[in-house]
Amino acid sequence: MIKTTLVRLLASVCRAEFLVFVPALTLAAFWYGGEGAMVVTALAVPALVLSAGLVVALGGGRSRGLVAEFDRVLADKDGLGRTTGCFVIQFDDPAGLIDRHGRSTQTEILARCNDRIRSAMRFGDTLTILEDGSLAVMLAPVFRLDLETMIQIAGRIQTVVQLPIDLRAGTVHVTCSIGFCQGRRAPEATGRSLLDAAQIAVDEARRHGPGAIRAFSLDMARAKASRDALRDEMQQALAEGQVKAHFQPQLSTDTGGISGMEALARWHHPHRGCLLPGEFLPAIEANGLSAQLSEVMLREALTALASWDRAGFVVPTVSVNFSAAELGDPHLPERLKWELDRFDLTADRLTIEVLETVVATSQSDTITVNIAALAALGCGVDLDDFGTGNASITSIRRFALRRLKIDRSFVTGVDLDREQQTMIAAVQSLAERLGLETVAEGVETAAEHAMLAQLGCGHVQGYAVARPMPAEEASVWLERMAIRASLPHLLASRAR
Ligand code: C2E
Ligand code: CA
Ligand code: CA
Repeated sequence: MIKTTLVRLLASVCRAEFLVFVPALTLAAFWYGGEGAMVVTALAVPALVLSAGLVVALGGGRSRGLVAEFDRVLADKDGLGRTTGCFVIQFDDPAGLIDRHGRSTQTEILARCNDRIRSAMRFGDTLTILEDGSLAVMLAPVFRLDLETMIQIAGRIQTVVQLPIDLRAGTVHVTCSIGFCQGRRAPEATGRSLLDAAQIAVDEARRHGPGAIRAFSLDMARAKASRDALRDEMQQALAEGQVKAHFQPQLSTDTGGISGMEALARWHHPHRGCLLPGEFLPAIEANGLSAQLSEVMLREALTALASWDRAGFVVPTVSVNFSAAELGDPHLPERLKWELDRFDLTADRLTIEVLETVVATSQSDTITVNIAALAALGCGVDLDDFGTGNASITSIRRFALRRLKIDRSFVTGVDLDREQQTMIAAVQSLAERLGLETVAEGVETAAEHAMLAQLGCGHVQGYAVARPMPAEEASVWLERMAIRASLPHLLASRAR
């Protein structure tokens, strides 16, 4: 307590600018105390100022300390109208950084950047590592702090962070995004408000990153508030069961039988009706709710599959879509295994759909390892929207896939369009060479269905077969299919 008070006192008295008074103080000490006093003053005053500055630079430790520092500066009546500014610095793609280099390397990178920023800042500026691993800088109080100066400082910070970092494991390059707020632009004249404002700005920068810089604005705060409200609403919707799986069947072109059901998310919104994934998936991903969504979808899909089993319907597999964020979760295979065991279903009853863009662009080893682990477990892995993501043959071979899901854009009009036929035939021969099956998506007419069967496509899915339906409706559809399938036998047995 006494130490903190002393540090505060020193910090407020011993600002860098006070060094200009050192010669005068030394002279005064000489007049009043002789040579000894002069030497002591000449050495002690700079040491005091420096040590106070150092304490300010290292003090606080975490956000609480920083907020207290800001509060002190903003409320400083003796500050003669001086102000401060706050910067928050975040690495772009921190998860990828950990994924590629490991957690201990990430800590080392953070420490290096911390040192570099410290050496790029002015005397008396405060640098703190926040609880979430981002870095915050508080500027030593100044009389004038305009936008241009803030942008220049942010640029200087970026320059030092983005220099190559030599580690024992090799050279690493990182980029960072920066958000900032000038003291007088924070919604309230408090340290918490100033730090929050810079954090809102860095979130905005991250959304436009890598390497973006954003200044806080009230519009930004309003947009954040509405995103937060949507996030709360979505979290509640997921918890209360408003998000449900609808099911769309896939048929074998060979036997005409059901080869699977794809689970597609629908938000049964209390006021806005049934929302499609396009209307809420981006917000789910942006708000880090992918894990909750996939948990709901997996549970709904396995519940439906178990109930169809009990009713005696033949549904070989149910397909669930997984986002890149979910596929990057190292616990995914064990979570899926646990869920399958809970429903007493074997792994081959579950198919994981992975977007071609994820396979094409992912540099994450975790995704590769996870997909291999899921395939080894016995789950099917389908490459979704095939033909749109530019995955190379090498990346396709790297993943243990079962089927290519040919995107709807190649399927539409395939019965009439020779170009479409050529494309499907090419995909078909690629799949055969790679030992994979194919599913054509978005099949809307019986003529397309027939042409796809003729071109050798193994499975079809689309409105021509059925639209995505709630689980109960899908049971009715399965019942009708079962009756249709058994009709020839019934007629044959009656004829006997
Ligand atoms: P997708 O995986 O390609 O799913 C197929 C989409 O095409 C679905 O749209 C489906 O309703 C639609 N569709 C099916 N047959 C036809 C057809 O004959 N014609 C036309 N025009 N469209 C057809 P939906 O349900 O709006 O889903 C859109 C996308 O959202 C999905 O595309 C998938 O990428 C994503 N998605 C859906 N559910 C989930 C989920 O639970 N998790 C994740 N991560 N993504 C999901
Ligand atoms: Ca899909
Ligand atoms: Ca698709």
